[in-house]
Amino acid sequence: MSNKLRWSPSHDAGIPDPAGSIIDGNWVNDGKNLLPVYDPGTGIQMGQIIDAPVEVMNRAVESAHNAYHKTWKKVDGVDRGRILLSISKILQREKELIATIEAVDTGKPLNQARGDVDIASRYFEFYAGIADKIYGETIPQRLQEHFAYTIREPLGVVGHITPWNAPLNQLCRGVAPSLAAGNTVVVKPSEIAPYSPLVVAKLFIEAGLPAGVMNVVSGMGPSVGAALVSHPLVNHMSFTGSVATGQEVLRHAAEKVMPCNLELGGKSPAIVFADADLLGAAKSAAMAVVRNSGQSCFSVTRFIVHRSIHDQLSELIVKEISGLTMGHALDDRQLGPLASKAQLNKVMDFLKSAQSDNVTVAAGGVRSTEYGDGYFFQPTLLTNVKNSYNVAQNEIFGPVQSLIVFDDEDEAIAIANDSQYGLASGVFTTSLKTAHRVAAQIEAGQVMVNKYPLGSVDTPFGGYKRSGIGREKGVEALRGYTQLKTVIMDLGT
Ligand code: NAD
Repeated sequence: MSNKLRWSPSHDAGIPDPAGSIIDGNWVNDGKNLLPVYDPGTGIQMGQIIDAPVEVMNRAVESAHNAYHKTWKKVDGVDRGRILLSISKILQREKELIATIEAVDTGKPLNQARGDVDIASRYFEFYAGIADKIYGETIPQRLQEHFAYTIREPLGVVGHITPWNAPLNQLCRGVAPSLAAGNTVVVKPSEIAPYSPLVVAKLFIEAGLPAGVMNVVSGMGPSVGAALVSHPLVNHMSFTGSVATGQEVLRHAAEKVMPCNLELGGKSPAIVFADADLLGAAKSAAMAVVRNSGQSCFSVTRFIVHRSIHDQLSELIVKEISGLTMGHALDDRQLGPLASKAQLNKVMDFLKSAQSDNVTVAAGGVRSTEYGDGYFFQPTLLTNVKNSYNVAQNEIFGPVQSLIVFDDEDEAIAIANDSQYGLASGVFTTSLKTAHRVAAQIEAGQVMVNKYPLGSVDTPFGGYKRSGIGREKGVEALRGYTQLKTVIMDLGT
């Protein structure tokens, strides 16, 4: 395959090169430091963004603060809902453009990126329907002359920092409920896949979102991201990314005593019992490899399988993943490349450590070189894995699946819970009794039974243990984007 530029953000999508930030609906191009953006399907630089100086972040936060007090606070829930619905529709109208930007930026095949746009649009549709239904409660008092009630109020300016594996979805997952609840937002997307947040920021204004209600600032995390977290006018942070950065965000937040929602990493287990539908389990294993090339925080990556069916499941998974087609995002095959060279190197390092632990590489295990300098890695199955190994304890974030053997239920649950993470998990069994019993004992924010992944924009999502704090998605997310006020009245006699 020749290594020619397949798609250009400036030529094919009209994105300025270099691309700056969007404040009050306008491009802001201050700043001299430029950051290259690569097409992971070819390894070729396709554009650059401006690493915003801290002053630009300050301007974005002040703009969101002004928009909150002067505009958004005065828009009632019905009208907020209507604007959110209009955003949902404009995402559908521009689906092909946004999907193409997201696909080339992250490497994921177009069909996956189209699915991401559908989910992004659905977030706004879902929260549009709730914006006018954010209620408090009345609290019965012993004395008749006393009356008490609660009100859920917005927090003001909410900061959002997002990663590179699904930039559009992570933005919409957090921004839609934030706006529905009456907050304004400032977003700092990942510098590795920065384009879709900038493009949708413009579209949201076209859909009727007042200028300044959402600003997007481009740049590096330790400078511009940290400036967002520590800004005195930011009242809440929603962070999605690694545990190490999440800890850093928490340290800044502690200084300000600011609430934070953290969506961090995962090392999700799935227990496969001897009575399970093995083909279904194998297809779920393949799906985890296919979706974002395994670069998903909630991907199932540890299949904990009963000894009696280990060989059969292993063969089925090998069959499922060996037939997967790979290619550049625009060729729309089943599997794309990893999102960056750094991520490819990280996955290759994990494979080295697996080999020194003497695991068996049942399929894949190496970089795919037939795609030139693109960051492709073959779908991989590791067997003979012990849960204490590096590949079972740490997040690989690549198309790598591991099989770990168990002999009885207690051991399976102990292996599943022997992890610093607790984001998602699975149980495969035809016994409902077993499914309920095991689901109750797994330490994770989500348990999916007999298919993985399951769930949608309406199912609460978040982690136990080091996988995070708080919940995104569903009605539950609104709690995190509001603060509760209690009003107690003496009505007199
Ligand atoms: P990362 O932590 O390196 O970066 C995430 C974001 O934080 C980026 O925008 C980055 O620029 C910014 N950042 C970096 N240092 C910062 C600092 N000191 N202060 C403020 N911001 C800073 O993570 P990543 O490599 O982009 O993403 C991969 C990780 O994200 C994985 O661990 C994955 O599991 C996790 N993730 C979690 C979820 C979830 O919903 N739980 C979803 C997707 C990804």
